[in-house]
Amino acid sequence: MSEKMKVVICPGHYPAKPGAQYYGLSEHTEAKKVVNFLMNGLKTKFDVFTFIGSLSEKIDYVKSLDNVVLALDVHFNADDDDDTNDLYGRGTEVLIGPYCKNNKTVDVATSIGMSISTILGIPNRGVKPGWYKMDNNKKDVDAFVRDLPDMGLIIEILFMDNKAEYKMLLKNEHMKMASAIALGIQRSFAIELAQIILK
Ligand SMILES: [Zn+2]
Repeated sequence: MSEKMKVVICPGHYPAKPGAQYYGLSEHTEAKKVVNFLMNGLKTKFDVFTFIGSLSEKIDYVKSLDNVVLALDVHFNADDDDDTNDLYGRGTEVLIGPYCKNNKTVDVATSIGMSISTILGIPNRGVKPGWYKMDNNKKDVDAFVRDLPDMGLIIEILFMDNKAEYKMLLKNEHMKMASAIALGIQRSFAIELAQIILK
């Protein structure tokens, strides 16, 4: 009996500590919308799992599953800059474990970043090693890729404090964001996924 490959797709942060807050938008809530579409799109080819909880609980959850090929933590970026310098913090980036030795994970990270950049029409900041980063709650969110070096990726879809980019959240373009991530995964794994974009 053939078993599907396992992927874990989590929204960044959790209800008690929901991450960045800008323009009435909450990072965790916005990420969850993308995750829901993405889970739906990937389930034809993968066994899809998700988890909502603190970072350490989330990492333990992924480690408790056998043979996970990919674990995604979906975030939105912010540079806490004042909005007059709106060109500084923009674009998409994918963080990878600094000690990642899995070429497949590097490949899928690159593919997802390129796909988001192309489909959303925003700069591609590239794939970066996730060494350390403080979020609004002083948590080191990059632990997700350091503690899951061979399958963990943090996707920072866009900057939710950048005018040109947060408008995509206000316009409910979460399905488009999920489609972009799915397309990146599809290309990297050379598989055909169900269409997420409905129109
Ligand atoms: Zn975040």
